[in-house]
Amino acid sequence: MSSSQKNVTVVGGGIVGLACAWELAKDGASVIVVETGGSSYGTSLANAGWISPSHIIPFAAPGMVKTGFQNLVGRTGAFSITPGAGSLVAPWTLKFARSCTDAHVDNCAPALKELLDTSMDVIEGLTETTDLKRTNQPQWYVYTSENAEADAEHEVDLVTKFGVNAKQLDLQVSLDSEPILKDTVKAIVEFSSDFGLDPGKLVEVYRRNCESLGVTFRDEKVTAMSSTNRNVTVTTSTDSWISDYVVLAAGVWSRELAKTLGENLPIMPAKGQSVTLPGVMNVPSRTLMLADQRIATNPMDWGFRMSTGFAFTSANDMSVNSKATEKLIATARQALHLPEKFEVKNELAGLRPASPDGMPYIGPLPKAPRVIAATGHGMLGLMMAPGTGKFVADMISGRSVSREVLKFSPARPRL
Ligand SMILES: Cc1cc2nc3c(=O)[nH]c(=O)nc-3n(C[C@H](O)[C@H](O)[C@H](O)COP(=O)(O)OP(=O)(O)OC[C@H]3O[C@@H](n4cnc5c(N)ncnc54)[C@H](O)[C@@H]3O)c2cc1C
Repeated sequence: MSSSQKNVTVVGGGIVGLACAWELAKDGASVIVVETGGSSYGTSLANAGWISPSHIIPFAAPGMVKTGFQNLVGRTGAFSITPGAGSLVAPWTLKFARSCTDAHVDNCAPALKELLDTSMDVIEGLTETTDLKRTNQPQWYVYTSENAEADAEHEVDLVTKFGVNAKQLDLQVSLDSEPILKDTVKAIVEFSSDFGLDPGKLVEVYRRNCESLGVTFRDEKVTAMSSTNRNVTVTTSTDSWISDYVVLAAGVWSRELAKTLGENLPIMPAKGQSVTLPGVMNVPSRTLMLADQRIATNPMDWGFRMSTGFAFTSANDMSVNSKATEKLIATARQALHLPEKFEVKNELAGLRPASPDGMPYIGPLPKAPRVIAATGHGMLGLMMAPGTGKFVADMISGRSVSREVLKFSPARPRL
């Protein structure tokens, strides 16, 4: 059966759902996107806007349990667990710890590379054919601690082993070229393939592209699904209909929806916050990672974005914590010249849908093969969405996918 004869419902109109909807519509499918959050798009608007094809090492990697979380907790307090995180924390953490092996990294890195490369091709196409813009200068990681030199060297050693293009830069020349950086910065690493864009703009471009291909948007909440071998019944708060396929792209809320099909997708909501400040002088020409402060920055057209935080929490916890914003700005001052005073606005919170093995779930659910998961992208959902859309369209259209892509299957061992 060709895709032109298929009806597909995409649950979730965040960046992943929109990317799937567009690819499916290009294939000729009749597509409905159901989105309960209006134009807020959950986490997809709140993020740092980084496009980082260099991130081919899964979050679950050797050293993460000890140094990774220590970095998040110890130096910045950016990592926390709220009481709302519930009973998933313990099994999730155990599975995460078990996944932090060299063998896991060796297995996952080629699959993540294929996903990121596919995404990059789509993003390049969108910057050529739409008004989507990107930063043109490569990304920098900047280090301020007394171990700055050693940490920078370690970072370069770690990633170059996996073929990532990273190098340490001449400090003074670099500081002179980005006057926002304070002389507290002691070492800088450049990632030549990584850049930033406005995530809201990427969402807008995808939505426009979907609309121009006749994708229908429904502002409703999906409450349940039931599946046979031939189709899926989608139930919302106000209606019910039958689709040939459903794409489950509801971010952290995918877990509850999967349960209505008898599936357990162990997705942990990992909360972060961003703030976008207009009026910052000497806005850098590139994305910066303040490595010791765990703050990601992005110079967008309408303001300078900074984001941080990694709190295990509940899927209901989308509240913005203004104290956390104040702390974020104060911490960023350790490395950046920021104005003494400014009006703090454009604060957003988002929930990263984090899988315990650091790999997204892309593929049919074992107990409901007409429901294709497109979720669990964790810290890199913006970057991975375009490639996810391509793979999902391949699967629904019956085109073959590579062995690497099959590694994202939700049928892989879970908790
Ligand atoms: C602070 C922060 C910084 C980040 N920085 C980056 C970055 O620089 N680069 C990067 O690649 N990633 C980044 N991420 C991660 C990225 O934002 C997420 O991985 C991505 O947004 C996930 O997209 P999604 O479409 O899966 O989920 P979401 O954006 O959460 O979208 C899911 C949508 O489903 C809808 N929905 C949920 N339940 C239902 C239902 N029952 N019925 C109908 N609709 C429903 C929701 O309203 C929501 O709009 C960051 C995240 C945070 C929090």
